[in-house]
Amino acid sequence: MEDDDVIEGGCTCREVRFCLLTKPLFVHCCHCRWCQRETGASFALNAMIEANRVIILSGNPEVVMTPTLSGRGQKISRCPTCQVALWSNYSGAGDLVRFVRVGTLDMPDRLPPDIHIFTESKQPWVVLPPDVPAVGQYYDPKQMWPPESLERYRAIIAQRS
Ligand SMILES: [Zn+2]
Ligand SMILES: [Zn+2]
Repeated sequence: MEDDDVIEGGCTCREVRFCLLTKPLFVHCCHCRWCQRETGASFALNAMIEANRVIILSGNPEVVMTPTLSGRGQKISRCPTCQVALWSNYSGAGDLVRFVRVGTLDMPDRLPPDIHIFTESKQPWVVLPPDVPAVGQYYDPKQMWPPESLERYRAIIAQRS
C-alpha cells in the first residue's frame, strides 16, 4: 500500500469502525501456539502501527486483559457487542503501538506479511512463500524493518519519556 492510503476496518456487527491513517510499521504473521489458540486457526496476522495513527470512527472498544507466553499479558480491544478482536497492545511498546488484526480491515489483501515468526510451531500444511523472511521464533527489528519504520518507532517510543 502507498504511504498516504487510508484503510478502514471494523468488527462484524459494524458497531466499531476505525481507520489506519498510514501504512503500518511492519506486518507479522505469527505461527505461535498462542496465536493459533486465540484465532482458532493457524496463525495471526498483525499490522503494527502507532496508536495515534488508528482513528476510531465509531463505537467504543472494550479492553480485555489476556495472558501471554511472557507472563506480562496483552490488552485485546474488542467490540463490546460482537466481541470481535480488533487489535492488541503488548507490554513491549505498551499503549503506543497497536497490533491491528489484518483480517478486520475492509481490504486485508493489501497488507500481506512482512515476516513469518514462530515458524517452529507452524502447522505443517501451511506453505510459506520463499520470498518472505521467516524465523523460528522472534527477530531483531533493526535487521528486518525498513529504515523509515525504525525511525517512526523511535519517534513514538520517545514520547513515553
Ligand atoms: Zn461488533
Ligand atoms: Zn503469536
